[in-house]
Amino acid sequence: MKKTEKKVEFKSPKSTDENPRLPVIFAPWRNSYIKRDQSLKGCVFCDGLKKGVSFESLIVYSAKTCSIFLNKFPYNNGHLLVIPHRHTPDLASLNKEEFNELHEVLLKAHSAIIKSHNPQGINIGLNLGRAAGAGIIDHLHYHLVPRWSGDTNFMPIIGGTKVISEELEQTYNKLLPLLV
Ligand SMILES: [Zn+2]
Repeated sequence: MKKTEKKVEFKSPKSTDENPRLPVIFAPWRNSYIKRDQSLKGCVFCDGLKKGVSFESLIVYSAKTCSIFLNKFPYNNGHLLVIPHRHTPDLASLNKEEFNELHEVLLKAHSAIIKSHNPQGINIGLNLGRAAGAGIIDHLHYHLVPRWSGDTNFMPIIGGTKVISEELEQTYNKLLPLLV
């Protein structure tokens, strides 16, 4: 290193009462996943679905309208994806059968991951849109991420984002009359 160059050290911020920032998860394999996805024509999920249940497709279970995939580039051991067969980014576009079965299969995946991995917790979530942290934005997929104490917090894993807690009550009060 030249004397003029500054050595830059990366330190993950620690979450404390004084410093509420959440720890950042370092997941470099995600970059190649997302770049690869964007460089391919078509959809990796639709391509996988054509192959059916197999290790090659990473589909571990298929129902009539949705399937359970292993995430090829997991955030944690046992990271599953539950994916409707229909190529859509829009949760509201699912018909009743698709929607109901998606959630039945989500429960099935949940039960299976408890048995197979005995996690201390599980995060279940959808990332809708790039701004919400979705790597593949055009095809809906639920994440199930088994969790163990001390790995890291939920929101940086699922959304690559942080919750702004003071806004939650306002948001709640706006939503309440809309959900009757
Ligand atoms: Zn698709």
